[in-house]
Amino acid sequence: MSAVSAPTFDVDCVRCPRLAEHLASIRAERPDYHARPVPPFGDPAARLLIVGLGPGMHGANRTGRPFTGDFAGILLYQTLYRQGFGSLPESVSAGDALVLYDCRITNAVKCLPPENKPTTAEVRACTRYLAAELGALPEGAVVLALGQIAHNAVLRALGLKQAAWRFGHGAEHQLPSGLRLLDSYHCSRYNTQTRRLTEAMFDSVVARCRALIGDGPMHEGRSS
Ligand code: SF4
Repeated sequence: MSAVSAPTFDVDCVRCPRLAEHLASIRAERPDYHARPVPPFGDPAARLLIVGLGPGMHGANRTGRPFTGDFAGILLYQTLYRQGFGSLPESVSAGDALVLYDCRITNAVKCLPPENKPTTAEVRACTRYLAAELGALPEGAVVLALGQIAHNAVLRALGLKQAAWRFGHGAEHQLPSGLRLLDSYHCSRYNTQTRRLTEAMFDSVVARCRALIGDGPMHEGRSS
């Protein structure tokens, strides 16, 4: 990957007025909530980057760590642990002892969108950070997109046309940049409870990520 000087994250970013106002109102009502852009979590030198949609109201938006504090992270962190990407099978809070090895988790949209629905303009605005994260990945890295919005955001961040690489659960895409993009249905409560995404289905995709990047060293990388 080429060297990238753009920032991968800004906790004070207010480029999306609707989201900034939404977070300000949450901070006023719930001063114990993070209610700001949620930083990526995991190994800064990771060869696996997992991209979700955005923070959940009482999950990442509350705790300040992606997929932490609500249902969506349960299957994700259990599976990462099983595949050797995590030191613990659950993520409890931003200050817990969990370490990710060779794995980093981020969101396409860093701020909580009302009703979990970012506008196209908001996804585009946040692309600058995702592009910087993708640009900082090492050679041979794998990107796992959780859901179609994350998949499309990755392609947009890389300047690629969505029509050329269609989202599909379990699909693999060799991208011109050298990155390999894998897709999974999002590990949301809805998808898991309706069995659209089963534990076995998700485990299979993460196991494929593991196979693609190999075992490698278990870094001592810490959360950002
Ligand atoms: S969603 Fe992204 S671009 Fe928009 S305000 Fe939050 S951090 Fe900034």
